Amino acid sequence: MGSMVFQEEIPVRGKAYDVIVAGGGVAGLAAALTARRAGKKVLLIEKSTMLGGLATLGLINLFVPMCNGRGKQIIFGLAEEFLRYSIQYGWCRMPDEWRNGEPKQPTEVRYIASFSPNIFAVALTEFFAAEGIELLFDVTVSTPVMEGKHCKGLIIQGKSGREFIRGSIIVDTTGDADLLRRAGVPTRKRGNFTTYMGRMITLDGCRRAAESGRIEDAFSRVSGYAIDLHGRNQPPEIPLCDGTDTDQVSHYIELNQRKLFENIKGDTPESREIVTLPGMAQLRTTCCIDGDYTLQESDTYRHFDDSIGATCDFERRDFLYEMPYRILIRSGFDNLITAGRSAAGEGYAWDVIRVIPPAIITGQAAGNAAVVALDSRCGIDKVDVVKVQAKQAEQNVMLHFDDALIPKDLENAGEPGEDYGHI
Ligand SMILES: Cc1cc2nc3c(=O)[nH]c(=O)nc-3n(C[C@H](O)[C@H](O)[C@H](O)COP(=O)(O)OP(=O)(O)OC[C@H]3O[C@@H](n4cnc5c(N)ncnc54)[C@H](O)[C@@H]3O)c2cc1C
Repeated sequence: MGSMVFQEEIPVRGKAYDVIVAGGGVAGLAAALTARRAGKKVLLIEKSTMLGGLATLGLINLFVPMCNGRGKQIIFGLAEEFLRYSIQYGWCRMPDEWRNGEPKQPTEVRYIASFSPNIFAVALTEFFAAEGIELLFDVTVSTPVMEGKHCKGLIIQGKSGREFIRGSIIVDTTGDADLLRRAGVPTRKRGNFTTYMGRMITLDGCRRAAESGRIEDAFSRVSGYAIDLHGRNQPPEIPLCDGTDTDQVSHYIELNQRKLFENIKGDTPESREIVTLPGMAQLRTTCCIDGDYTLQESDTYRHFDDSIGATCDFERRDFLYEMPYRILIRSGFDNLITAGRSAAGEGYAWDVIRVIPPAIITGQAAGNAAVVALDSRCGIDKVDVVKVQAKQAEQNVMLHFDDALIPKDLENAGEPGEDYGHI
């Protein structure tokens, strides 16, 4: 590929922020809210026109299990607050056992909840604006301006053109480590299977909904290639998609939309309507940082001194993990941190930490780390993790799982729960 040099004088946006969060998915929302609740001046920049990222815009409207599959809740804190908020104004599917908190008796029914993605998105906008977080929609963060390994600010691109914006701490929650990668933080990429799911309403669904009195029964999924997390049904001729390559992402969207159209164009036109297509590419693990630590599958049941939250496996009962602070940072980069999909994980461990509830926990930790770094005037790569942990714990995050929850028979542990294969 050729290159060219292009110089341009661009305006500096007036204010400097304590914390700029790039990407308004659940991880970015958690980071922004946490820093704001500690009194920091926070700007959240989102390239699309709604908050929630994959969870709303991407139509992934299901909080995966927040319990160990035996009736013990593992994930609390902001993840639980978001879950409860996601179902406050729209329809909700949640097992009765968990509606009023942790069940009194052990149960194998898992703590999950699905919600209306669009109602959650508009509720989020009201909520975040009311919390005093400044929001920029339809603005892409394109370039971190670096002085060595320190980020002086960001170049953003919106309808006003390019602008430079200053922030003391930058949280990269673009899902693809866009900023940290461009800042020179080492990263790792992974190809994605080809998944594409929209929401459809059918006459049959309407009849079901009229009978049950539940509006959600009217909807069903409409797919392009419906390939699951493990690649089941991936046609061999379709290459895996790297979510950080412009051509590949465009090709992925085109391919899936054409396949989806092929799947429905023979139906009776009056029998159904597509209500929404995903507003962003439904890619799971595209690019994560090569952090100070990378979580591995072999870290199941391992305690970390610097854990910022315990989490559970969405597929297998009993499997528990702790997420060390070091998966969010790379030493030397003193004001850059990530959370959510681009936290450092490898193999299946990356899948465990990228889903909605743990993405919220890592976002919350990034927000708390930003606060500690600002208050103690030190680099975010050098914060006293005990202080970050204390804030997480005060905010009701379980830092360490209880060893009593580790099954006695480890050989046979990890029995699958329900099939969450599309995740
Ligand atoms: C097919 C599929 C099925 C899944 N199923 C489930 C499930 O059932 N349950 C579950 O819990 N999880 C599921 N997941 C995972 C889960 O949805 C995501 O991993 C989680 O929502 C990630 O949140 P995030 O905030 O890290 O990233 P994202 O949700 O990707 O948010 C990133 C945000 O940043 C914005 N952005 C990106 N680049 C820029 C930029 N340069 N400037 C400004 N903004 C930018 C994006 O528009 C987006 O809003 C699934 C994922 C996929 C792909």
